[in-house]
Amino acid sequence: MEELNYPEVIEKIKARFPEGTVRKREDNRRAYIPNQVYNDRVESATQSRWDQEFREVEINIPHRFVKVVARVTIGSHYRDGIGFAEIGVDASGKPKQLATTVDQAKAEAIREALDTWEIGWQDLAPYYQDEKDWGSNPALAHLLTTRAPDKGTPAPQSAEMVERNCIFRNCGTKLSRDEWELLSNVPNLDRSRMTYCFAHIPEQYRKKIPHEKLQEFQRKKTDR
Ligand SMILES: [Zn+2]
Repeated sequence: MEELNYPEVIEKIKARFPEGTVRKREDNRRAYIPNQVYNDRVESATQSRWDQEFREVEINIPHRFVKVVARVTIGSHYRDGIGFAEIGVDASGKPKQLATTVDQAKAEAIREALDTWEIGWQDLAPYYQDEKDWGSNPALAHLLTTRAPDKGTPAPQSAEMVERNCIFRNCGTKLSRDEWELLSNVPNLDRSRMTYCFAHIPEQYRKKIPHEKLQEFQRKKTDR
């Protein structure tokens, strides 16, 4: 078997996932990528030449938590991650579903370790664009512009909806063809991922849209 080419493997690990990979959590609507997807990515990028090891599993019943330290090794490089999960108790105060809780902490630890190789960052950054969120950091702006803008969009037809949903937290509104077209006026915006309904276009993008395009959009909207 040929030697593992570390830089090449990492490039493959960091690469963009197919559209639809990012999911929203049921409870808080935060964007995430399922663990199985990460696992599959590392498997294929390394051709199974990676290793994971749980270096520490602490099951703390009195304080009701599980702590796991995991190590992921790729070639001669390794990264550690820590995962925590809260132990639930039944009515009599006995811990329940302990095995599941341990699995959760393990999964989180592995995810944390993989995260240091920037797995999924390009995919998740668009969802973390609020000022307080990591994805809006100017030093990470490159994560948002790595795909060429799509070409050959059909001619605009005003009222028509497109199969795109606003990614703003809790919004999810289907975009109109006009809203979709409007996004194409923001320089360097990858609208296949940075998809916003008109109300939720972040200010820093909105101000880059030429004034006449905004006017045209508003006019079409009121014409209807
Ligand atoms: Zn929206």
